[in-house]
Amino acid sequence: MQLLLTEILNLPGIEVEDYTDVAGQLILAVEARATEAICPRCQQTSHHLHQNHWYLARDLSISGQSVFLKINRRQFKCQTCGKPFSETLNFIGNRRKQTDRFAQSIVQQVLHSDIHNVALVNDLTDDEVWSMVQYISKKKLNVDVSSLKRLGIDEIALRKGQGDYIVVLVDLERRVPLGFAPSRKQEDVRQVLEGWGAAVLGQIVEVSIDLSGNYKGLVHKLLPNATVVADRFHVMKIVNQDLDTALKTLCKANEQTVDEVEKARIAAALKQSKYALLKPEANLTQKQKVKLEEIREVLPDLAQMHQQKEAFRAIFEQAKDWGDGTFQLLDWLAQAQASFQESVGTICRWFGEVTAYFDNRTTSGVVEGINNKLKLIKRSGYGFRNFDNFQLRCLICWHLAID
Ligand SMILES: [Zn+2]
Repeated sequence: MQLLLTEILNLPGIEVEDYTDVAGQLILAVEARATEAICPRCQQTSHHLHQNHWYLARDLSISGQSVFLKINRRQFKCQTCGKPFSETLNFIGNRRKQTDRFAQSIVQQVLHSDIHNVALVNDLTDDEVWSMVQYISKKKLNVDVSSLKRLGIDEIALRKGQGDYIVVLVDLERRVPLGFAPSRKQEDVRQVLEGWGAAVLGQIVEVSIDLSGNYKGLVHKLLPNATVVADRFHVMKIVNQDLDTALKTLCKANEQTVDEVEKARIAAALKQSKYALLKPEANLTQKQKVKLEEIREVLPDLAQMHQQKEAFRAIFEQAKDWGDGTFQLLDWLAQAQASFQESVGTICRWFGEVTAYFDNRTTSGVVEGINNKLKLIKRSGYGFRNFDNFQLRCLICWHLAID
């Protein structure tokens, strides 16, 4: 029976010596087969058993039954330095209450769920699960920045309306976040970047940023070889904002219209027009297409702005190269100057960064998917009393080297 259990347990070098069943939990008494151990102080092998030391640790379940190992972590006495020492066991860390493979299976569950649920399902406390996340991360978390060439810097609000922003730094080629800054403060972002070392910062060729102006100076200072690219989706957003503002202004103005028939006609066209106007035209629903037609008949000025907005998107989608994109953008700026005052101003101030997109079409588009995942993690709640916990919980999603 012990032989069979040893085989089922499948821990190399470990033997099952005894078993009991306590309240539906299988308890296996185990011990290493080796009769010697290496002294951690002087690296000498000792065969001299000093004393046995038994303790319980949780292991993977067998056929749905919880398994605890009653482990004998033996103490040897070193003949060279004369001191007793405990043997090292390769399947469990010192003072851990779970085997490494059990902790790893728990962390794998966390990746697809959240800490609290995993604790419930496995009859553990939240703190125990979190402790396993930290333990496994120490061994297996590897955030490799060595191949970083294209960096995205983006911010996300973890709680709506609270001004509670963190900054996400993303490897745009590998599509993974490499680090987080706890706030939008330049100092916080600088610390993350500097942590990567001068060699990595020097090899970065492009950095995609938003138009907040928060990071441009920092990037120029720390990343000497990087071209700054204004993320095209952020640029598109400011163009859309101008269109949205025009729509709101029209709605307000219409309230002052004296001619009741005219007022009703315009109000009907404006009603529920926001997404018909702001969404990419190619993605409109049938209903929104009809709305857009109505706007074209009733509100030609607004329709023209919509057409200019679509033209703007098309430049970014179709430009053949830097020259082509830049000339088309210059044309657009000249034509849109009157109606898109805000965005034309911003684009002119960021002209070099905006047109840099046309070189390699680098964008932070992938950040959106990453951000959605981060928000999900944040919502699941546990363990984010501090930023380091949150960061660790996020990084294991992408950088844990477990099979
Ligand atoms: Zn020794």
